[in-house]
This record gives sequence, C-alpha cells and structure tokens, in this order.
Amino acid sequence: MTTPRAETAVALVPPVVPDRMRAAVYTKVGDPFTVETIDTPRPRATEVLIKVRACGLVPNTINQLDPPPMVQAPPLPAVYGLDPAGVVVEVGESVHGIDIGDRVYVNPLRYCGNCRPCRKGQPLACDYAALNGYFGTGPKSAEMVADYPQGGYAEYMVAPHYSVVKLPDNVSFETGARWGYLGTAYSGLRRAAVGPNTTVLINGISGTLGLGATLFALALGCSTILGVGRDAERLSRVRALAPDRIHVHTPTDERSTEQWARGLTDGYGADVVVDALPERSPATAFTAAAAALARGGVHVNIGGILDDVSISPPRIMTSNQTYLGSFWFTSEEGQEMSELAAAGLVDFEVFQHRIHGLGDIDAAMASLAAGDRDGGFTNVVIAPFGAAAT
Ligand SMILES: [Zn+2]
Repeated sequence: MTTPRAETAVALVPPVVPDRMRAAVYTKVGDPFTVETIDTPRPRATEVLIKVRACGLVPNTINQLDPPPMVQAPPLPAVYGLDPAGVVVEVGESVHGIDIGDRVYVNPLRYCGNCRPCRKGQPLACDYAALNGYFGTGPKSAEMVADYPQGGYAEYMVAPHYSVVKLPDNVSFETGARWGYLGTAYSGLRRAAVGPNTTVLINGISGTLGLGATLFALALGCSTILGVGRDAERLSRVRALAPDRIHVHTPTDERSTEQWARGLTDGYGADVVVDALPERSPATAFTAAAAALARGGVHVNIGGILDDVSISPPRIMTSNQTYLGSFWFTSEEGQEMSELAAAGLVDFEVFQHRIHGLGDIDAAMASLAAGDRDGGFTNVVIAPFGAAAT
C-alpha cells in the first residue's frame, strides 16, 4: 500500500461553498439590476455546481429584459447571465467524468433529451429548448426556464452534466465567456462543411459573430476568407490576422460584393456565405452577399438581420444551393472548439476584455447600447468575484 502524495491529498479536499452568495437580481421590467445576497443553489444528482469566474454580457440583453412574444423569459425576479465560465466546485452523485477543479464553460442550451427532436439528435430543436439565463424558444420552454431560473450573473450556479464544456488551460475565463458567440459561428461553419478547399465569405466580418467565424474558419484550414464590412480600420485589423488568406471589401456603387468575390475566386463565387450582420442592417446587405454564392454553395445565417428578403427559387434549384439558419451550438461542438484552442489553432489575442463586477451590469449594457465598443474586438464580461479573480 502506498501513501498518497501530499499534493494529491490536498487536491481531494473539496472547496468550501458558502450557503449564501451574491447575485445580480432583475426584479421588475425597467428597473436596474440589484446585487443581493441569496441562497447558493445546490446541484441535483445529475448536475454540478460552478463557481462563476466570468460571464459574457450580451449587447441585446437589454431588449430581452422586456421580451417579445416569441420568447419566454424567466419569471421575475430572475438571475440572468447567458455565457458563464468557471470552476467546478461540487459534483452531483450521478455525475461521472467531471471533477472538482475542472475549468469549464457552461453551454446554456437546456433540452429534455426525450422529445422527438431530441431523440433524433437535434437538441437545438427540442420542444423545451431554452438558453439558460436568457430565454426559451420552444413550445414548452416555459417548463425548462422555470426548472433552470438562474444564469451566470451570480457567484455560483448549477449546470446539468451535459452542458459542461471543458476549457483548456490556454483559454482564459474571459475568453471562455465568449464561447456562446464563438460557438454560434463555429456551428454555422461546421454545418456548411467548411474546411480546406472551401472559400468562405463572411458578411459583417469585424462584428462579434463575424470575428468569431473568421478565427474558426482559419482554424478549420479555410484557405480563402472574403470579409465584407463597413469600417475600413477594423477590416484592416481583421485582415492582419492572416494577410495571405483573408481579403476584405467595403461595397461601393462601383464594385459590388458579387463582382469582388467572383474576381478573387476565378469567377466561381464563395462556396459558403456566412451572414453575421447586426440587427439593423438593411436587407440589401444580405442579398448583396447572397449574390456572391457559388453554384453548389451553402448560405448560413447566424446574424441578427430582421427584414424579410427576396430569394429566387429557380436560381437556388438550378444552382444546387442550400440556405440554412443556425442560432446556437451543441456542447459537443463547444468541446471541438476547446480541442482546436488547446492545439494552438485559434488566436484569441485579438480580444480586448472589459471586466465588470456584478454591480456594473446596467452601466455596461448602457455603454454597449450607446455604441461604445470596438466592433467584435471588444469582449465585455461580468466577473462576480472581481477582475483580479479571473
Ligand atoms: Zn427535447
């Protein structure tokens, strides 16, 4: 029999989790968040407890706090917070393969595992689908939102075992708190089978989703990335990520996106068009990029464009094209992203982190709403234990 080494014995001592914790609570539509002391949640048998070190701040959260009819917000008072990253501090008795001390991202996608879409391997289409700490979108999401009412704007949160994505040591908690936006882009690229020998046009390339699509298109071996945007200075910084592989363009009356893209692809156009346009973009920005899609190509919409657009069924049919929408990503895809990051294939140094405390949520959202950010380069996170702790 051997005696455990001292450091192993120390590591086995579980962390002390306080019975009460600080959380940013949203009580009434229109009122500010208040930092309150509430009971620390405890994990059920198939859940883990996470000590939240950083949680992404979603720019349009402010709209969701007074939700439109198609989404189901948590009942108030609620603890929001969509994109948490942190450390596992407690593990439910039926959880296997997740250990105390693991550094993780919590995929907020909650699903039942039992409805027809879930049994077909389509959790994003689950009847109960909900994004924890944000809203639900399925016909029965209200039940799931009530079952998981608390997101990441708190010192601790529970997470079902299937939501846990392990983060490699070279991904900071602030970057981990960006996994939601990055994963939405990554899933779109994977569904369009992006890889070597694929040309990708990213519409809105310097925005939050567009920059993520660029980083992972590079990681997936994409040789030619065509970026469309409006801000010349930001476009040049995106191009500097890989000047031999990234080309950038601002549409003008003299040269359309289609003319430019076909000029760089021997006339073929882009194999994949990723639409990552912000919410208020005109429909013409969407259709201009659609015109640059190659025969046999795939057009993926991950962006926020709200207007209806015209499409040509004969053109789609005779060109053998595919149009698809992609709004989130699975934990499996999140883990693939971790593997690419661990291998050093993704350059996260581009992010400028802005770290705020639980009491700063309203001010941080107001500043984002006022446009105070450097496109997709800015990464705003809430750190419940403060900036130094991340
Ligand atoms: Zn389901």
